[in-house]
Amino acid sequence: MAKNIWVFCEQRDGEIQNVALELLGVARELAEKTGEKVGAILLGHNIKGKAADLIAYGADEVHVVDDERLGMFVTEPYAQAVTQIAKEHTPSVILFGATSIGRDLAPRLSARLKTGLTADCTKLEMDEEGNLFMTRPAFGGNLFATIICPDHRPQMSTVRPGVMKKLDRDDFRKGEVVEENIAWDESKFSVTVLEEVAECQTCGQIENAKLLVSCGRGVKDVAPARELALKLGGSVASSRALVDAGVMDHGCQVGQTGKTVRPQAYLAFGISGAIQHLAGMEESEFIVAVNTDKNAPIFKVANLGIVADAAAVLKNLNKILQ
Ligand SMILES: Cc1cc2nc3c(=O)[nH]c(=O)nc-3n(C[C@H](O)[C@H](O)[C@H](O)COP(=O)(O)OP(=O)(O)OC[C@H]3O[C@@H](n4cnc5c(N)ncnc54)[C@H](O)[C@@H]3O)c2cc1C
Repeated sequence: MAKNIWVFCEQRDGEIQNVALELLGVARELAEKTGEKVGAILLGHNIKGKAADLIAYGADEVHVVDDERLGMFVTEPYAQAVTQIAKEHTPSVILFGATSIGRDLAPRLSARLKTGLTADCTKLEMDEEGNLFMTRPAFGGNLFATIICPDHRPQMSTVRPGVMKKLDRDDFRKGEVVEENIAWDESKFSVTVLEEVAECQTCGQIENAKLLVSCGRGVKDVAPARELALKLGGSVASSRALVDAGVMDHGCQVGQTGKTVRPQAYLAFGISGAIQHLAGMEESEFIVAVNTDKNAPIFKVANLGIVADAAAVLKNLNKILQ
């Protein structure tokens, strides 16, 4: 019988990604409901040493495949490894980050494991029978749909980075590390990575930033926003309006079709607060909104609202912080 809540723990260049730790946090909550264990899948090369981190963040058992074929993410070897481990141990749930890797890997696995997959979930709940209730935005974010997968196991979903909360690290937690052996079928390896080239972005990793200076259509010149972000030790972000206008990179976009962020401070300049934007930032710890329209919806989620011209406020803040 299928049991236990598993998380595919994504690593890049040997670094466990934050989303993996966030998913371990929600997996613990789900497992508490059914009394099951939390399992982590860790794939990579020279990666075994990271298993202790996953235990410290909530895993009871870590299934590791440490193999040179897994050094860099390539779909087929990763899919073969996870499929074999999942078939052997039959977890009840497998969660993935809705990252470029998770979005590539999870659908392929759901087909190989003959089960369903709910993408981009914003909420996960479990009943005592072990049914996972996977909630995600639907119809352009205007309503939320809760999806279940009652007839097939594992129940699978992807969750955006920044949506769930990771637990505090606990180095006293105990867990088991299981080294898995994979029967590779190299005849299916049709892709070879020749070179990895880092994308040049005009904004930092907004999902990890503690402070974001975010610009919308009401900001005509983003240079003062960049200056402020730099002075405050944060990153610059934006609404989709500026991405569509070609002013900002898509990597900076916050919202339903961009990134989900949860910084300590989110400073929104000239952003109206459309539901699709709020979906990506309303969990921020402290929200400051600057908008000339006192009825802008962003003020409903703001802790501090300033009815003013964005350019003037940015100029004054930069002057004060000189
Ligand atoms: C399926 C779908 C997915 C979407 N995904 C996303 C997403 O991921 N992220 C996202 O952001 N949007 C997304 N959108 C678009 C979203 O609906 C809005 O169109 C978008 O967020 C608007 O961006 P904005 O607030 O910058 O612009 P606007 O809505 O045009 O708002 C500009 C604001 O600036 C204010 N303003 C004007 N001048 C000034 C000034 N001088 N000083 C201060 N304030 C000023 C105005 O009062 C206004 O409130 C999506 C839409 C759909 C249909």
